[in-house]
Amino acid sequence: MTKPRILLLIDNDCAHAAVFQEALLHATDGPFEGEWVRTLAEGMGRLNSKEIWAIFFNLSLPDSHGLETLDKLTVAAPSVPTLMLGDVGDESIALEALRRGAKDYILENHIDRYALVRAIRNMAERKTAEEALFTEKERAQVTLNSIGDAVLSTDIQEKVTYLNVVAEKLTGWTREQALGKPVNEVFVIIDGSTRGPCPSPLKTAIVKNKTVGLTPHCILVRRDGAEFAIEDSAAPIHDSRGHAKGAVIVFHDVSVARAMGAEMSHLAQHDILTNLPNRTLLRDRLSQAIATADRNGTRVAVLFLDLDGFKHINDSLGHATGDKLLQSVAKRLLSCVRNSDTVSRQGGDEFVVLLSEVAHAGDAGVKAEKIIKTLLAPHEIDQHNLQITASVGVTTYPDDGLEAEILIKNADLAMYCAKDRGKNNHQFFEKNMNLRAVERQSLEGSLRCALERNEFVMHYQPKINLKTGEITGVEALVRWQHPERGLIGPLQFVSIAEDCGLMVPIGQWVMRESCRQAKEWQDAGLRPIELAVNVSSIEFRNDDFLKEVQRILEETHLEARYLELELTESVLMRHAEFTVPVLRKLKALGVRLAIDDFGTGYSSLSYLRQFPIDTLKVDKSFVQEIDADTGDATIISAVIDMGGSLKHRVIAEGVETVEQVAFLQAHGCDEAQGYYFSRPMLAPQFAKLLESGVSVGLPN
Ligand code: C2E
Ligand code: MG
Ligand code: MG
Repeated sequence: MTKPRILLLIDNDCAHAAVFQEALLHATDGPFEGEWVRTLAEGMGRLNSKEIWAIFFNLSLPDSHGLETLDKLTVAAPSVPTLMLGDVGDESIALEALRRGAKDYILENHIDRYALVRAIRNMAERKTAEEALFTEKERAQVTLNSIGDAVLSTDIQEKVTYLNVVAEKLTGWTREQALGKPVNEVFVIIDGSTRGPCPSPLKTAIVKNKTVGLTPHCILVRRDGAEFAIEDSAAPIHDSRGHAKGAVIVFHDVSVARAMGAEMSHLAQHDILTNLPNRTLLRDRLSQAIATADRNGTRVAVLFLDLDGFKHINDSLGHATGDKLLQSVAKRLLSCVRNSDTVSRQGGDEFVVLLSEVAHAGDAGVKAEKIIKTLLAPHEIDQHNLQITASVGVTTYPDDGLEAEILIKNADLAMYCAKDRGKNNHQFFEKNMNLRAVERQSLEGSLRCALERNEFVMHYQPKINLKTGEITGVEALVRWQHPERGLIGPLQFVSIAEDCGLMVPIGQWVMRESCRQAKEWQDAGLRPIELAVNVSSIEFRNDDFLKEVQRILEETHLEARYLELELTESVLMRHAEFTVPVLRKLKALGVRLAIDDFGTGYSSLSYLRQFPIDTLKVDKSFVQEIDADTGDATIISAVIDMGGSLKHRVIAEGVETVEQVAFLQAHGCDEAQGYYFSRPMLAPQFAKLLESGVSVGLPN
């Protein structure tokens, strides 16, 4: 049941009280309850003790008179509406009463039931309207102050008419200070990218008569100079006839969101490990560099860099060390380039360096060499002194491609070429590398079936004692009899086989086949000689390598002392701690060990001493120096001396001329191998050669 509204009548006139009671019975907005008192003092008492809805008071009371009564009531109950009952001549006082806050009046000649009922109804309606208006206003106020957005409004002259609490905080102006001020004094915004002024969004909203967004990257400058990135919109305010009478702007601080956005976009464009730009950002930068190069008529260079043998470091020393090595490489790369260049990480151990402005392709080559040299110095990581080299492929714009994607792809191809040509070097892209890449792919396909189809064949090349001219040994060299392409040399397929995991089974086949062959020659009564088999790094590092050698020797019944394994320096040097025990076990089997291509891997003597090596095979590049007329044969004599001092047998590879033979003899080289004596040949021919001896004689 609704609580009755209490109407208080303060009047000393009994007739008024009777009409009042009657009117309450007929009033529609009730239920109403009447309280009648005769004096102001009593009235005040009721105001204190009850919740009064409205007060009807007579202008002349026993204890109070005139407007004084109204004033006292207003002070006592400011929110309770009042109605004045007066005499016929009190019209002017009544008007003054309205001015002072009374809601209504009725004069003596009109005091009847109808007038009172109407007055009560008016009062109720007004009260409902006021209450509604009040709660609406209050709600709006509360809303505006509790939303996270700042709200600021202006009149049509762009003077501030309102700020909520958040707007006060962000602008640094209180509402009192800001009211009536020109908006551009209170709401100061600049363009975050240019730091120039922003057009006033309020003005734009009024002019365009529609909601407008703020300038992107808008910055609000607070009264004390602090800056906030803000975002949001402004809208015109219309009067009842639809004309703009001002504008309101709603904005919020997006500094944190914007900083987070910047962080996100940094993450999206950078490599987490090295913080270098990633491939996405590289492509952007490269496209920009191409556009600039077009305008300036300059060139752009792309260096595609891949670390040599990184996987092995990662596998043997762990990813944490590998990661630190990559970080160290990143630092070195950055030290080699200018600020305007970009060093990016493509993933894994691949990096791409973008040189944004080069005059000649040759300059890119110079830079590539500088990078290769800079990487060479040992990286100190977790008590290790890690050495790593890199292979680099180089392309330039516009010579090697017109688009970012093509330039990177071609540099990648050139990098593979650098790998094939011995690693630790750089190669410029050449058009035929594309063909080679296609060929490489098609070779890979057919290589997978080559073993099953029995397409590999062994060729054998003799080693000659330089004192006696006798054949002392033989090197087994694999070839691939390709069904369509004919005979393919190992340089063309060994690296592919390594990459696609076929080298271990191929190597096992080579070992088994050549050991079987060597034993067959011995069984046929030929003079037993030493058989040298090449072992690639992948085979050597395979866990089963040792067991496999043992098994093959048992199966073929070849005595271990007739087998020599040829390993390159790089295979041995990398992770000596792992290499030495394996070498010792091989030695324990009775197998001999040789370092192949000696002199190309920069081995230090102290390093070599720790390996149980029997033979040094001097790389053919040194042998070829001998008759180059440069007189620079000192290297090879130093290598021969060094081998001698380590008590190793020294064999010169790739001997082609009689002058080379003479030189080697003069310098005390033990043995030689090369076309001068014999090309590699199939087993039956080699058996004959072994019987007859090589036909060419020694110079002395
Ligand atoms: P390598 O072990 O240094 O073999 C010597 C290479 O020099 C052979 O090339 C041989 O044919 C070539 N050669 C011999 N005499 C001369 C000469 O007088 N002048 C010149 N210019 N070259 C000469 P080939 O057979 O193409 O083998 C190349 C490389 O492939 C070998 O270098 C070796 O590292 C690797 N390889 C060969 N067979 C195998 C194998 O069965 N397994 C593995 N893992 N690698 C092999
Ligand atoms: Mg060899
Ligand atoms: Mg060699």
